Amino acid sequence: MQIIKSISELRTALQNRSHGRTVGLVPTMGNLHEGHLELAKHCRDRCDIVVASVFVNPKQFGEAEDFSDYPRTLEDDADLLAAAGTDYVFAPTDDAMYPGGHASATNISVTTLSSELCGEHRPGHFDGVATVVTKLFNIVMPDMAFFGEKDWQQLTILSRMVADLNMPIQVIGVPTVRAPDGLALSSRNQYLSEEERQQAPVLYRTLMDIVHALQAGATSFDRLEHTARVALRSAGFEVDYVSIRHADTLAPATEEDQHYRVLAAAHLGKARLIDNVGLDLR
Ligand code: AMP
Repeated sequence: MQIIKSISELRTALQNRSHGRTVGLVPTMGNLHEGHLELAKHCRDRCDIVVASVFVNPKQFGEAEDFSDYPRTLEDDADLLAAAGTDYVFAPTDDAMYPGGHASATNISVTTLSSELCGEHRPGHFDGVATVVTKLFNIVMPDMAFFGEKDWQQLTILSRMVADLNMPIQVIGVPTVRAPDGLALSSRNQYLSEEERQQAPVLYRTLMDIVHALQAGATSFDRLEHTARVALRSAGFEVDYVSIRHADTLAPATEEDQHYRVLAAAHLGKARLIDNVGLDLR
């Protein structure tokens, strides 16, 4: 496995190797856990050449967010990626990715989908994600790119971007990897105190309560969301949203829908946790 920091070096390496071979990309911000490695394993299974990027993208963080505190652990990440069968780790500097500064970079905006749910609470976040992923796509030119269902809104936005802009890339979603108690693995879980870590799985359990109610035929979506918010608040969370949506369009759920996604974001201590669960009625 090779660790490459320069865009031109990565391009040259891939041009020399990839004739007739499929290239897969796994974009990450590093500080890797089993969730990220699952993406790398899916990529290894389906592609001839596996490229994982490790880049903490300044353009997707708000001013009051954790960009400077975000854990950076490239050496450990590289060991884990090597063990998962990665061929190239692309770990560019901020300057290489945004030579003129990220604020003045061209913006890719998947407008409607980006302004609600997490987008409402993190203005500009998904433009930062869509922009950096477009740049990574242009640098790596992968056949397939792997993203976690953990970030369902992100996965939906990037799938839409690829379709809207006719990018010749297959976007593949990988199911969320969870701790045994149900908490979705996340680099931000390490911001939790021991006590908060005990409380954190309430987020997943609350989403599952909604799923069970929907399975049992409940259609009072507002009431289900309200009950969930109350449950989360009484467990110590500060809730950004709990929302039942159509899984593909992210439009608010209707009784006619067959495919639901129940999504939530809530703060627990210093950590902002997000999670979602799907339900297919037929
Ligand atoms: P991040 O480093 O947080 O930007 O995540 C990089 C990729 O890993 C994204 O596509 C995430 O959706 C995915 N990911 C993060 N956590 C998990 C998890 N617990 N299970 C599956 N995929 C995940």
